[in-house]
Amino acid sequence: MKVPFIDILRYENNFLETVSAKAAELLKNGHFVGGPVVGQFEAALKDYTKTSYALGCANGTDAIQLALRAAGVEKNDKVLLPDMTFWATFEAIVNVGAVPYTIDVSRETLHLTLASVKEGVEKFNPKAILMVHLYGWACPETLEIREYCKSKNVILVEDCAQAIGVKIKGESILTNASVSTTSFYPAKVLGASGDAGGVFTTDEKVATATKILLNHGRTGHYDHGMIGWNSRLGAYEAMFMVESLKHLDARLDSRRHVVEEYRKKINNPALKMMAPSKDVWENGYLSVALMTPETRPAFIEYLKANDIGYGTVYPGAMSVQPGAAAHIGGKISHGHAEWISKSVINLPCFAYMKQEEIDYVVEKVNAFKA
Ligand SMILES: *Cc1c(COP(=O)(O)O)cnc(C)c1O
Repeated sequence: MKVPFIDILRYENNFLETVSAKAAELLKNGHFVGGPVVGQFEAALKDYTKTSYALGCANGTDAIQLALRAAGVEKNDKVLLPDMTFWATFEAIVNVGAVPYTIDVSRETLHLTLASVKEGVEKFNPKAILMVHLYGWACPETLEIREYCKSKNVILVEDCAQAIGVKIKGESILTNASVSTTSFYPAKVLGASGDAGGVFTTDEKVATATKILLNHGRTGHYDHGMIGWNSRLGAYEAMFMVESLKHLDARLDSRRHVVEEYRKKINNPALKMMAPSKDVWENGYLSVALMTPETRPAFIEYLKANDIGYGTVYPGAMSVQPGAAAHIGGKISHGHAEWISKSVINLPCFAYMKQEEIDYVVEKVNAFKA
């Protein structure tokens, strides 16, 4: 058997037929950029996430840039981010002219903690924090960090590129985030068939500014109130995601089954299966395990030899990327992010993974000898 790390083509029966018919309609009526289907998608997204405002844009990186700008981050402002994330988080801060400061994450929870956020705020006095929720989990102290940022007047933007469908204490992670973003890159849990992203907010002013920024700073057809750029969502992608949203809960249930099976059945002491904190209901985006940096290379070779795909999300800390040196304003590092980058392993996980595929992965992983 061969099990890929991810297979994004396991659609529901009739999904492709429905999308093809809707695509033909768009081609006939000439709705290519914007138009009613984008509004329909934004309404469906708002309904699904229970946010006050949900706006589509071109991709998840633009979404962060739009959110930072709309929330009030300006040139040369200091912005904190976790040292363990996807590079786009770091890039977005630099691209809006602000200065990134990396904060180490916890080895236990793999995320920022309230204590590390406080330490960063006291040391660097930032304008904003870009908190990231990885692996389909939520940062364990999200609610406390939100409270703390409010009390300190620090802008909080949350990168939820991996967190659509995640709940904290039974509520969508996006509902009470004052400003958050997501990515609809095809490999994310709600994937488009190309690039797309979203900005969510509880603040009408942030929503208005986002809308203006993503459409050339437009305040009227040829009135430009700000320097924005073009980050409009295409109608085809909006239509694809309107159809995908109808199946999202089923897809997430299927993913959660995979990660739960691994946690229940993998008993090889070489792997420590990780889980989100108890208040968090994950979306099953990734399965996460930690190994020692010494055993991981042999395990990776073993997976390859057994035709099992894998991920290492992420294999390097942000602060040590060659691209960071010219831009980073400062960092707090205890070596945790770098240790995680050498220890993390992700097993195959995707919607509609078959039970025999899960069983094969479990059997092979349990048979590995370090
Ligand atoms: C995917 C991702 C992004 C970037 O999204 P794109 O749509 O690829 O631009 C940003 N942050 C995180 C954490 C991501 O996983």
